[in-house]
Amino acid sequence: MTPIDFSQLPHTPCYICEESLLEKNLQLLQRVQKESGAKVILALKGFAMWSTFDLVGKYLQGCTASGLHEAKLAREKMNKEVHTYSPAFKDDEIEEIARISDDIVFNSPSQFHRFYDRVKAINPAISVSLRVNPEYSSSPVDLYNPCGIYSRLGTIIANFDASLLSKLDGLNFHALCEQNVDALEGVLEAFEAKFGSYIDGLKYVNFGGGHHITRSDYDVDRLIEVIKAFKARYNNITVYLEPGEAVGWQTGPLVASVLDIVHNGMDIAILDTSAEAHMPDTLAMPYRAEVRGAAQAGEKPYTYRFGGNTCLAGDIMGDYSFDEPLKIGDKVIFEDQIHYTFVKNTTFNGIKLPSLAIWTKEGTLNIVHEFGYEEYKNRLS
Ligand SMILES: *Cc1c(COP(=O)(O)O)cnc(C)c1O
Repeated sequence: MTPIDFSQLPHTPCYICEESLLEKNLQLLQRVQKESGAKVILALKGFAMWSTFDLVGKYLQGCTASGLHEAKLAREKMNKEVHTYSPAFKDDEIEEIARISDDIVFNSPSQFHRFYDRVKAINPAISVSLRVNPEYSSSPVDLYNPCGIYSRLGTIIANFDASLLSKLDGLNFHALCEQNVDALEGVLEAFEAKFGSYIDGLKYVNFGGGHHITRSDYDVDRLIEVIKAFKARYNNITVYLEPGEAVGWQTGPLVASVLDIVHNGMDIAILDTSAEAHMPDTLAMPYRAEVRGAAQAGEKPYTYRFGGNTCLAGDIMGDYSFDEPLKIGDKVIFEDQIHYTFVKNTTFNGIKLPSLAIWTKEGTLNIVHEFGYEEYKNRLS
């Protein structure tokens, strides 16, 4: 595996997806599929770099989409299984969604009753599922907890409508966020206690996303055992997993440059990127992105606060220390910025969206898209 040659980078900011790291994740997911019998599909919400979808489609069964646009992208760019879920489908989109999806997941019995006949009339072969809420949560962050108090996501057992069963092909739950298999075991126990009696006769159960399968401490063997045991309990039923983050996990950096260094109680480096616009989870989650060669503030001799090139005071990535002083023009490499970054980017303050690049297995830097003024203008009127 050749490390990225940053001298090939013509400009910053730029996300660089490392093809060999992506493939390594896909190979691990393929092992889960082979050994457990589960099917794995990519959740586009977390990673949607479609220039990699030929590669992703070699390993995974398709995509899970959260509405019309993601479903269109899944059909157009991967063209394998398309599973579409939305918290609420709309009248003017449901027919196109039905036409291009292999599987549709309703969030509530009311949505199911509203759209079932129309969906089946357009696409008689489509599978139809209901998302349920197992009301078991171990998610560390409320913003990312689909089973938190008053959650709108999925049908709780008290609202389950058993009259749907004759028309249902599957049940979905999605309850995890960046978690290990012990959390899945807890969710499964709650799911089976509540919905287990409805599983016989279904074609599949979808365990959602949030499985951090490609993280180094994830217990992959245990996951395989848990899936196999579940399948054995329910007549070899098909199990789906739909990770997003685990596909894009640690597959490449966001590279930025130092534009200026100012002093106000401390040294502050202004970068040509933005936490708010380009690394949104660092503020929303929040978490601290790792920077290559840097340590916590004060650990090395030269500490800087990194700020974005927007007028938002809180557009701050954090404080980082270095062995040598930073200079204007130096590159700053934020690690692991491929998932939940460019899928959420905005053109806030008119700043340029980072380019998207692939560092190929052969060791070439392929800039797949550079953005400019048009992206800013076209989102306004
Ligand atoms: C977000 C989401 C996923 C993917 O979650 P990750 O944490 O990225 O693995 C899968 N399914 C549903 C319904 C989701 O909302």
